[in-house]
Amino acid sequence: MNKEKLYGKNLNELIAVTKRLGLPGFTARQIADWLYKKEISSIDEMTNLSKKTRETMATDFEIGLTNPESSAESVDGTKKYLYKVLNNKYIETAYIPEDDRATICVSSQSGCKMGCIFCMTGKQGFQGNLSCNEILNQFRSLPEFRKLTNMVYMGMGEPLDNLVEVMKSLEILTSEWGYGWSPTRITVSTVGLLAPVKEFLEKSRCHLAVSLHSPFDEERKKLMPVQRTNSVKDVLDIIRNFDFNSQRRISFEYILFEGLNDTPRHIKELARILNGIKCRINIIRFHEIPGSEFKSPGIAETIRFKEALNAKGIFTSVRTSRGVDIQAACGLLSTLEQNKPVA
Ligand code: SF4
Repeated sequence: MNKEKLYGKNLNELIAVTKRLGLPGFTARQIADWLYKKEISSIDEMTNLSKKTRETMATDFEIGLTNPESSAESVDGTKKYLYKVLNNKYIETAYIPEDDRATICVSSQSGCKMGCIFCMTGKQGFQGNLSCNEILNQFRSLPEFRKLTNMVYMGMGEPLDNLVEVMKSLEILTSEWGYGWSPTRITVSTVGLLAPVKEFLEKSRCHLAVSLHSPFDEERKKLMPVQRTNSVKDVLDIIRNFDFNSQRRISFEYILFEGLNDTPRHIKELARILNGIKCRINIIRFHEIPGSEFKSPGIAETIRFKEALNAKGIFTSVRTSRGVDIQAACGLLSTLEQNKPVA
């Protein structure tokens, strides 16, 4: 019989567990403390619970941590880990060390429904939503867990298409009974699903990154089918009408494709549609994937594009390419693993 996993439960769910076990309500906070502050890996380590209680708990429950199956390390220090989830599917988690920070990039789904044509994960199709346990396990079971300073939901899948589990994971990361992280250390990326963006902005204080990739509807539709039903102009309206505090950051991700979305016409339209929004643009260099004709423009053209946007008053930076030698494009490594012939 599969045991229920305690790791990944929020305080209300832990209260329900204590009720089931006939324990006093305050025990839920003690269990949260063991799970998220004292970082135990077995129920037997919860030594402020009686031995009998721990034994009863272990009949139906387990902590539920899973180590990565394999890893690859880049010459630049970036590491990619493969975790097994759902039914023998693989997801990718990246560890990205920089000067004064160490970021984890987590996946929120196995595969993805959004079908962005430049994305390897999109080509996998959709295999399932990750549970809160599977999302946070990538963080807790990362060998570099104790070094982490930041977290981005930019791995496989569309986080806001798995809103309930993603929001629960954010609650555990940022609550005082959980990891107690500042929401400003966490960024959630989205293609811009309208209702979930609104809910995310209202219910969390974490940063939001919207994948833009073109300011023109027709061009964006070709790159990102989601534009047909969730227009980025409507996303911008939601953002414009939201009352932001000074701590919260809105950014737009922009993968630059040579000859496609890197012209002066794009710069002008980007400046027009983002007018009045306090935001930044992150330019991302395209990592080639098999079967794709897209190309990344050269460094000089990329810098020119960035400077032109800065000159228009939009703070723009170019994200350094990391892990190029270890299948940097998200979804490549897991696709290779999933397609391996069975021995
Ligand atoms: S870019 Fe993101 S949203 Fe688009 S298909 Fe890939 S994983 Fe899904």
